[in-house]
Amino acid sequence: MKNNEHPKYIGITTTVPIEILLSAGYSPLDLNNIFVSDTNPDRLIRLAEKDGFPLNCCAWIKGIYGVCLDKGISEVICVTSGDCSNTQMLREVLNLKGICTIPFDFPTEPNPAEVKASLSKLALRLGTTLEAAEEWRKTLSPARELAHRLDYLCYAENKVSGFEDHYWLVSSSDFNSDYVKYQADLQKLLNTAENRTPYPPTELRLAYLGVPSVFGQELYPYLEQNGARVVFNEIQRQFSLPKGGADISRSYTAYTYPYPMEYRLRDIRTQLTKRRIDGIIHYVQAFCHRAIGDIILRQKLPLPMLTLEGNADFHLNQHQKTRLEAFLDMLKAKKQINL
Ligand code: SF4
Repeated sequence: MKNNEHPKYIGITTTVPIEILLSAGYSPLDLNNIFVSDTNPDRLIRLAEKDGFPLNCCAWIKGIYGVCLDKGISEVICVTSGDCSNTQMLREVLNLKGICTIPFDFPTEPNPAEVKASLSKLALRLGTTLEAAEEWRKTLSPARELAHRLDYLCYAENKVSGFEDHYWLVSSSDFNSDYVKYQADLQKLLNTAENRTPYPPTELRLAYLGVPSVFGQELYPYLEQNGARVVFNEIQRQFSLPKGGADISRSYTAYTYPYPMEYRLRDIRTQLTKRRIDGIIHYVQAFCHRAIGDIILRQKLPLPMLTLEGNADFHLNQHQKTRLEAFLDMLKAKKQINL
């Protein structure tokens, strides 16, 4: 918040144009990040199941609901088009619980005029304007630039771990609800990271595609213990708006996540080459409609791919570890042959 105003928190269910929320005097809270960084995320899922959410419902949806109850969130922006098919019903249940929800729809195609219309509708609903939001875009720009610098240090200079890259990019959805602190903390990390010894050039270079996983804290270090590092976190990177854009409408037009797979694929293909990727991990969340996109990724991408599914288990199990090791062994053998 500017000028030490008392923050008026608003939950978000995925990346939304937070510039609009900030210009309306809100402090956005990404409910996913609060859920997954909780010391006991299981209890948040149990809260949802106690209220009737089915066992075969995605853990993120249940976690978001649990956070709303646990933290006493009173307002939530629900993205009902361009993110998750479950959010519509989540919204109705939140309303039932007395939580005010505000819908936001990304258009079905990344058309700047349609994006602008969606953003204007949200701005009007929250009592602000796109001009005011544009000022916030400029204010947030240095924090986003630091996130892009960190990403560069990860894939080009090999001085940043896959988890660090994941964490700072995924946190750029709401800048951990305090962009000033985010910027200061990230700058501190970058000052240290610039002087690190690079990771060895022999390691495997991986792409992580798909929604953030429930066991990210274990997955990235586990890969690094086994001679591989994620140097491309696809969707997390999108949260940081890597393509920028001349104005807020164009920024959220260039953001690929809400739009059809062909737009994500264009970005993925470019980055696979640029980042010299050896293999792909496609994470799919159990009971998520996005898992069907695996069919398209497998057909359209030219590299070996491991599809890894997670549910509500926040640790890698032995079966997942064995599959990861086998995949890495295959990539190492392939790389040896190609040397
Ligand atoms: S993982 Fe899939 S089902 Fe779960 S919240 Fe995200 S988009 Fe929705």
